Amino acid sequence: MIAPLFISHGAPTLGMTDTPARDFLRDLGQTLPRPQAIVVASAHWETRAPRVSAQNPNETIHDFRGFPRALHEMRYPAPGAPALSQRIAKLLSDAGLPADIDPARGLDHGAWVPLALMYPNADVPVLQVAIQSQHGPDYHFALGAALAPLAVDDVLVIGSGSFTHDLGRFHGQAIDTPATPDVTAFAEWFDGALREGRHEDLMDYRRRAPYAVENHPTEEHLLPLYVAWGAGGDQARAKHLHASSTYGILRMDAYSFAPAA
Ligand code: ZN
Repeated sequence: MIAPLFISHGAPTLGMTDTPARDFLRDLGQTLPRPQAIVVASAHWETRAPRVSAQNPNETIHDFRGFPRALHEMRYPAPGAPALSQRIAKLLSDAGLPADIDPARGLDHGAWVPLALMYPNADVPVLQVAIQSQHGPDYHFALGAALAPLAVDDVLVIGSGSFTHDLGRFHGQAIDTPATPDVTAFAEWFDGALREGRHEDLMDYRRRAPYAVENHPTEEHLLPLYVAWGAGGDQARAKHLHASSTYGILRMDAYSFAPAA
């Protein structure tokens, strides 16, 4: 049994920067039990309807521009798990979320950048599940809930996004710039709601959390958190694994969602 995770993947250069978040992800991969496979719901794969990748081995998608050449040349050729992809498509369909298989989709940077830190040997099978950001938290919680049976088989479900994500305020500031007050206010509210299991508040965070829209002008970087939470089950307990920020605007927090005993 491996508890689902939400992780903040930060900038594509995360693995090349000396930050607490990078060190955290490296340590996390060494302390978690080794999963049989990894399923990533990344902010960087948005589709209109549910979709499950099934490439084997996975191609590395460099879905960014203007970063150092070494990053564009990085590869993370983890094997896929096509049989697991089929099983997940069925789990989603059985939950009323008919899903297509995508045999041509590799791993986007929301998946491979953190996985290259956690499992640098690229030897654990990986596949991705798309998010549908035209839908909100409830929908993504349900999408995650459909994946809850996977924990028993030591399949690690990861929601990969960003705890706060207003890139409109990135103007080249230093990576260790302290977080602005509204970033901290949002993160503290959200953390409290997770710790206390305030389900209704979290589902309605856009109206109830301070500076929600400022920190998530669009929702795609927060919705993976709801997938991970749902995958832990309705009674899952959120555990705050990491807190830090980069560039003053990107909170790099991570949580696990252990199913209730
Ligand atoms: Zn991102």
